[in-house]
Amino acid sequence: MSETRHTKILIIGSGPAGYSAGVYASRAMLEPILVQGIEPGGQLTTTTEVENWPGDTEVQGPDLMVRMEAHARAMGCEIIGDIITSLDLQKRPFTAQSDSGTVYTADAVILCTGARAKWLGLPSEEKFKGFGVSACATCDGFFYRGQEIVVVGGGNTAVEEALFLTNFASKVTLIHRRDELRAEKILQDRLYKNEKIEPLWFHEIDEVIGADSPLGVEGVKVKHSKTGQITEIPCKGVFIAIGHAPASELVKEQLETHHGGYVVVEPGSTRTAIPGVFAAGDLTDHIYRQAVTSAGMGCMAALDAEKFLAEHE
Ligand code: FAD
Ligand code: NAP
Repeated sequence: MSETRHTKILIIGSGPAGYSAGVYASRAMLEPILVQGIEPGGQLTTTTEVENWPGDTEVQGPDLMVRMEAHARAMGCEIIGDIITSLDLQKRPFTAQSDSGTVYTADAVILCTGARAKWLGLPSEEKFKGFGVSACATCDGFFYRGQEIVVVGGGNTAVEEALFLTNFASKVTLIHRRDELRAEKILQDRLYKNEKIEPLWFHEIDEVIGADSPLGVEGVKVKHSKTGQITEIPCKGVFIAIGHAPASELVKEQLETHHGGYVVVEPGSTRTAIPGVFAAGDLTDHIYRQAVTSAGMGCMAALDAEKFLAEHE
């Protein structure tokens, strides 16, 4: 028989948003349960140095997340290694089914399931992830000072990342599969005016090439999307910027989403359209997508949930 666990606050997700919500909800004596999901610690466990987490000049992403987990646990948050497989937000208490068979019921839910960068799906891309291949210019651009870089994509993210990377790189090649950018015109203008950026139209990456020892990127083989001709571009960094996919599968039929699946919250808060359901972090943020902003929203969600519970007791 499956177990049922009731909690005042169910936090779904264990990235910076989830653990910060866990710290705040625990300190409000709300005895939250946090379900970690398939990636305990979230996206930062997939990276190495993090150099923009305030208070740490440099910290390894996985270490930071271990510390956040320990912090939430020390404050009294119950952290469970489980995955929520479905969520019913239509009636109270809210009900979550899980992979383990446990059913969680909750007076309030904080959704912190994050977002995932989309990848090209090439084996060579996978091989060099974290060793020259990245999906986060803000995080990793600093490592490519004076080097040549390629950026893949034609949307706002790709153009913003290419512009940002000119702060470090000697040259940025923007590789796009068409000859027309999806990015806003103002960003396109900035891109075309920037002498460090060279667009490469009608091309897609065929293979990331590099050294094995030490592991590192040395270039990309690109294929012309019409002629199939292969060319090699030397570079030390490859930034994939072909969009992000928010992990909103659990709620996309129940809550409004925008910009390709990001959960809509009331501006300046973490309140969704369903009272008692809050969303924080990358799941609701199509613009900033940073650890510190996610943690900030996790804090806001716990405070919003605390207020909601006090008003509905
Ligand atoms: P995430 O970190 O995405 O965590 C989502 C959590 O939800 C995971 O724990 C997952 O297991 C859980 N989850 C998902 N579905 C379910 C489910 N069904 N049931 C239960 N749990 C579920 N930001 C910076 O500020 N600095 C950096 O240097 C930096 N480097 C980065 C490097 C890389 C390679 C990547 C990919 C991102 C980087 N970022 C960086 C961005 C940063 O990691 C994210 O902004 C941040 O992790 C978002 O936090 P989050 O809590 O919203 O979600
Ligand atoms: P996006 O708008 O979906 O653009 C993705 C780009 O990647 C497109 O140009 C697409 O090409 C290309 N692409 C997709 N799959 C590819 C593949 N497999 N191989 C090669 N290229 C591929 O994604 P985004 O730029 O991340 O933006 C997502 C959302 O966030 C948008 O709503 C955007 O406006 C918003 N955003 C806003 C800001 C801002 O306001 N400043 C900044 C960043 C993002 P095609 O064009 O050929 O489809």
